Amino acid sequence: MTAPEIHRTIDELRAALRPARQVGDRIAMVPTMGALHEGHLSLVERARVEADRVVVSIFVNPTQFAPHEDFDAYPRDEDKDLKLLGAFDVEAAFIPSVREMYPQGFATGVTVGGPSEGLESAFRPHFFDGVALVVTKLLLAAMPDVAIFGEKDYQQLCVVRRMARDLNIPTEIIGAPTVREPDGLAMSSRNVYLSPEERRTAASLPEILREAVERIVGGEDTHDVLPISRQRLEARGFKVDYLELRDGDTLGPVTDDTRSRRILVAAWLGKTRLIDNMAV
Ligand code: AMP
Repeated sequence: MTAPEIHRTIDELRAALRPARQVGDRIAMVPTMGALHEGHLSLVERARVEADRVVVSIFVNPTQFAPHEDFDAYPRDEDKDLKLLGAFDVEAAFIPSVREMYPQGFATGVTVGGPSEGLESAFRPHFFDGVALVVTKLLLAAMPDVAIFGEKDYQQLCVVRRMARDLNIPTEIIGAPTVREPDGLAMSSRNVYLSPEERRTAASLPEILREAVERIVGGEDTHDVLPISRQRLEARGFKVDYLELRDGDTLGPVTDDTRSRRILVAAWLGKTRLIDNMAV
């Protein structure tokens, strides 16, 4: 166990990574917003396999939150995060301030089309501009050979992939599977918002998703299956933002050329918004 070296500025991070790059070490980056859990740590483990040096960034990015969203309330616990990273032998943690990432006069945006259209964007129109901007900045700061993102945020993974390709960012984007609680709920930093009763109900989200996948794989028509799944969620008290089947590569509609399909869902339980997705 080694405590990670903490870098709070981009200059410090670059200086720390320079010697590793000079000797030809591969560098992996795992961008996070902190409040780390086993889902994040699975990305760190994957990063270890892919590279010699692992940088984990912890930055609650204000540009991906709308004014009415939970930026201030978002869980933050730097000491605990650093202990967890130490246990996973992460050498470097990049923990910039908002001012470091967005200095006075900051005036640049990054907008991705294609996979960012619909789904999350229909309900959080600001969201992917914020994600694309911060991921671009993080990748330019660390210049990693690979960056690991969770399939938990499947649309985000597709947007980041598209962006890295379109902008010729020389970082390979790797997607890693969703880590779940024993009852199937996808791990998320926001799960702490759930009351004990909501937490029990939350397990029916992946259960209903799994059942929809099985029925579609079994040959039932999506147009019959998804409305029933939506009703079942609503009957348990979820308010569904979207529940859709999409092309798993483009996130566009499923067509004759579709090679993989994905069901994606976002639903509120009380004041907590949960997202999940599964391959069909
Ligand atoms: P966040 O801190 O929520 O912004 O997430 C940082 C990274 O961890 C993103 O790439 C997420 O997709 C990923 N992640 C979050 N939860 C999970 C999970 N349960 N399993 C796998 N990856 C996850």
